[in-house]
Amino acid sequence: MKTAASMPPPSPVDPAVRLDALFREAVVLGASDLLFEPRHDGLAVRLRVDGTFRPLASFPAADAAQVIGRVKVLAGLASYRHDVVQEGRFDLPTDDASTEVRASVLPTVSGEKLTLRFLRSGRSDYSLADLGINDAARAALEGALRARFGLVLFVGPAGSGKTTSQYAALRHVHTHRGSDAHYVSIEDPVEYRLPFVSQTEVNEEAGYTFPRGLRAVLRHNPDVLLIGEIRDGETASIALEAALTGHLILSTMHGASRGDCVARLEHLGVSKRTLAAVEPFVFSQRLVRTLCKHCREKAGLPPALARKLGIRRVGVATWRGTGCSECKATGYRGRSAIGAPSRFVVGRNGHSTEPALIAAAREKVEAGLTDAFEVARVLDLA
Ligand SMILES: [Zn+2]
Repeated sequence: MKTAASMPPPSPVDPAVRLDALFREAVVLGASDLLFEPRHDGLAVRLRVDGTFRPLASFPAADAAQVIGRVKVLAGLASYRHDVVQEGRFDLPTDDASTEVRASVLPTVSGEKLTLRFLRSGRSDYSLADLGINDAARAALEGALRARFGLVLFVGPAGSGKTTSQYAALRHVHTHRGSDAHYVSIEDPVEYRLPFVSQTEVNEEAGYTFPRGLRAVLRHNPDVLLIGEIRDGETASIALEAALTGHLILSTMHGASRGDCVARLEHLGVSKRTLAAVEPFVFSQRLVRTLCKHCREKAGLPPALARKLGIRRVGVATWRGTGCSECKATGYRGRSAIGAPSRFVVGRNGHSTEPALIAAAREKVEAGLTDAFEVARVLDLA
């Protein structure tokens, strides 16, 4: 046991017991990630709720090895290796169901860093109506999903809810076509299990990459194919080809807007002619935090921010969360999506944030569901 004077006193509670308590707290708070970061004096624990981080706890340096070691055992990782990247998963029993946890250990210069991602199977139950997008965006998306073939792309930066939307879209297609269609997915990793889909997972080491997996999967001739993400040229060209030959493809791309996505596809080697033939349906989206209903209050809006959001009416009521125990003093609880649907059009794919996204966000601000500061943060308007 290290007892150097600079060390914090040993925690009176067993680190494993404290760890279990942190897991429970993370689940109760609806956290998506739990980070264990090595610092000079111990292990700092932060959690991410609704896309933003907050400190949760810390462990003294003397307990760090035990904490990381316990997670490694849970996730089936080699607890004696401290110099390699390791990834694993385990199930956390919770009240309603089990929560799947993805564990990733990264050796850093100050010690091992641990990231836990909480995947809740419940989120795959989201329907398009649960996403929070407005009626017009939903109607356009539903229209695109009625097609027997084509490409529907969800586009946004990391943490913009693309995967949740993609699953909701797949469930929507299944609601209409049912067992009359054949559903296959290729994902990295499989985030939620859906009973009606043959889900496969990319495994680079075994050679089951996105392009190879896609070729294999297409030989099974699926009607509806979910591709977790398009991020390389081969996957892009196979996906677009498949969209032209009788398959409905649902996928995601990283990017800020339709313009970004189209530029990226061209950069990956997809020709303008192919893009014009497929006319991908692009759904740009973001997630905004919603105001806590328990503490929101009417509040004024700085004129500069009102202009950026296109709010011209004088005295339009806007709201802000003041912070209470229900929202852990953040003023926000939960998140809701804003979406801008559009078709790829040859020669007209601007690069900036879509005006439709700003308009969708403005609706939410005017309805008191979120505030202008959150929208400015998410859409980079500040
Ligand atoms: Zn509150």
